[in-house]
Amino acid sequence: MVDKILANLEKSNCAIDNTFLQAVSEVLHSLEPIVNGDSRYETYAILERLVTPDRIIQFKVQWVDDQNRVQINNGYRIQFNNSLGPYKGGLRFHPSVSIGVLKFLAFEQIFKNSLTGLPIGGAKGGSDFDPKGKSDFEIMKFCRAFMRELHLYIGARIDVPAGDIGVGAREIGFLYGEYKRITRSYDGVLSGKPYAFGGSLLRPQATGYGVVYFAAELLKEELHESLEGKSCAVSGAGNVAIHTIEKLEHFGAKVITCSDSEGTIYDSRGIDLKVLKELKGDERHASLIHYIDAIPSAVYIKKEDYPQGGHAAWSYPCFAAFPCATQNELSLIDAQTLIGNGVRAVIEGANMPTTPEAIDLFQSEGVLFAPGKAANAGGVAVSEFEMSQNASMEKWDFNKVDRKLSEIMRHIYKRIALTAKEYGRERNFVDGANIAAFKRVAEAMILEGV
Ligand code: GLU
Repeated sequence: MVDKILANLEKSNCAIDNTFLQAVSEVLHSLEPIVNGDSRYETYAILERLVTPDRIIQFKVQWVDDQNRVQINNGYRIQFNNSLGPYKGGLRFHPSVSIGVLKFLAFEQIFKNSLTGLPIGGAKGGSDFDPKGKSDFEIMKFCRAFMRELHLYIGARIDVPAGDIGVGAREIGFLYGEYKRITRSYDGVLSGKPYAFGGSLLRPQATGYGVVYFAAELLKEELHESLEGKSCAVSGAGNVAIHTIEKLEHFGAKVITCSDSEGTIYDSRGIDLKVLKELKGDERHASLIHYIDAIPSAVYIKKEDYPQGGHAAWSYPCFAAFPCATQNELSLIDAQTLIGNGVRAVIEGANMPTTPEAIDLFQSEGVLFAPGKAANAGGVAVSEFEMSQNASMEKWDFNKVDRKLSEIMRHIYKRIALTAKEYGRERNFVDGANIAAFKRVAEAMILEGV
């Protein structure tokens, strides 16, 4: 027993995680041309302030499982920057969650939220709780215990959490229910709520649909191409992947791959969404291996059967690739394979799924590369629409939300493409996104003083 406790402590205290440094290093390198040209950034120590979170909150989550055993998890909320608006960003429930991972996600969120043009700051939170294999009641008990602590730090004008990996409408429903019980306030403090009580239409689909709206605009403007009839590779099988696949299919593309933590499906006829949703929809965690029970002509590649350092989702010829699972899932080896197979564009649905070496290779080989902080901003944008609807006690119809979402995605593309050009980095959408996002945040930080 002592060994188990020590092992858990070691995991949460010594976890070495370089993702925050990776995210910061990419942004700061992008900013070189702009920071050297404006002395105010140094005078106001903008970069140093920008890479330092406003606060990191850690709390204990204690709950009782179905066998009446007491369980303890770590809960976190990182409020990174609120210069543009209330802190905003999702909650991730996954065993890999640590302060390091959440710092990277919260930092990225500042830039993503800035790119939407909406009044939202950057934050992220979550827990090392593993929802896999837990009953609905266990999920509910965990969510209630988590909110017992979290409610102390959030508010509709302070910090508005939402979902991320492992947190969908079901979890947000339980969290919001507990928030209301404790505070008696029906103020919409979370986004991604079920539609029945304060949620926005299209919020579940927003990240994936937004990715595809962004991709369609990028391909049209840069390559004079459409998605119609194109083969696309997708990784992941969660909320973002499912809705990216769905919208790609609406646009006439054929999606040939998807994956979970154990393996990859290749379906040459195009992924069957109905089967995928039955296995993985609404935060369900059935293994993708069962896809082939329904579609025997598809191929299942177990993770351990695929060569080390690569991912099977990227091993088939495709026109465009959409990494929609998790950070650093697309490596240099994968980039080489994709390029060898003639890929023309890589659009990130997840947060930072492509390693820096892979990004460099795509860019030097002329493959269009769109970073997640631009391409997947549709989720948080519709979260902000949900905040607006809650604040005004209104409900918008589906078409209104969809129209506004696609406008925002097209606008983000235009803004980052233009910014890249303006700073002599044409077609470098990483630099374009980082510079455009930074300018808005930095201006606000200067204006609000120290
Ligand atoms: N977790 C999502 C993201 O990575 C959504 C955040 C939100 O809606 O606040 O952007």
